[in-house]
Amino acid sequence: MTPKHRASWAAVFIAAAIGCGSPGPEQEMEVRRNWAIAIHGGAGHFGEEDLTAEQQAVYTASLSAALAAGEGVLQQGGTSVEAVEAVIRIMEDDSLFNAGRGAVFTAEGIQELDASIADGLTRNCGAVTGIRGYRHPISVARSVMDSSEHVFFSGHGAGAFAAAMGHEPALDEWFFTKKAHKRYLRAKRRAVKTDALADKKGTVGCVALDSQGNLAAGTSTGGMTYKKHGRIGDSPIIGAGTWADNRTCAVSATGWGEYFIRTGVAQDIHGRMLHGDETLVEACRSAIFDEMGELGGDGGVVALDATGTIALVCNSAGMFRAWSSPDGRGVSMFGATLEGTVEVK
Ligand code: ASP
Repeated sequence: MTPKHRASWAAVFIAAAIGCGSPGPEQEMEVRRNWAIAIHGGAGHFGEEDLTAEQQAVYTASLSAALAAGEGVLQQGGTSVEAVEAVIRIMEDDSLFNAGRGAVFTAEGIQELDASIADGLTRNCGAVTGIRGYRHPISVARSVMDSSEHVFFSGHGAGAFAAAMGHEPALDEWFFTKKAHKRYLRAKRRAVKTDALADKKGTVGCVALDSQGNLAAGTSTGGMTYKKHGRIGDSPIIGAGTWADNRTCAVSATGWGEYFIRTGVAQDIHGRMLHGDETLVEACRSAIFDEMGELGGDGGVVALDATGTIALVCNSAGMFRAWSSPDGRGVSMFGATLEGTVEVK
């Protein structure tokens, strides 16, 4: 049985387990969602008590609007790569999230952005880190994937590539928000005493499965508040924060990037499925709880397999997340998805 077939069986089992219909045995290998999508808006130490009803409504509306853009692309037969880029562009423009406009500040008081995108069909990918002055880092990452012989550009090189490709520039004022700046000033005051990096959330990410059966993933972020000069987190690193391979899964991560890099979370999930016989959900659980979490890291992933099984798995108190497929859509924020209660849609 190929990993893809195993994923099909897993999807059927999970769909049946959550009451999405229980097909007879002869149908089991047939069941496959025509399209599916999941997004996140960051993970962190926040619970219901930390957000007012109005704030929750604002996050719900933002997540829902971004999701709708991806749903539209997929329902009209667009590709998973197009859906991922469309969703993330909206979230990069939404100052609620730590990506594009609203990105957090570095220890030097500037905004340096990271993004990556991966195509499960071709197993091609593109990424940028430390890019400044371009409105949509995810689109620059896509250009790296589509139009460059390289896969990863940093700093001024990423900017030079973005300029050469005609990407939309944006001034510092575009990215500035009072919220992110206040967080930076607070982190600066505490920098010598506490771990300023603990104050994080808002990275955005998306995974999608299109009607052609192709997976894609993307992630975009400002990183972590008060990150040191040149620090690179997991979000632009293919294999840590982002992964897509039609044989196994699409993954976008959010959380304490150093730990996601140390355990290669996104590629760990892929490897467990490809070589270790694990289902999407088992692989996400192992990578988040047994590996990354064991070292002391926190955060989560949104992930899909080629049958449209959606896994939303985190060990943090909260993760902004939303998902959709022909079976329905939803948004949620609170509650770590602890072992045994992994959130599966
Ligand atoms: N993973 C991101 C980073 O470490 C931050 C986040 O997801 O909140 O840069």
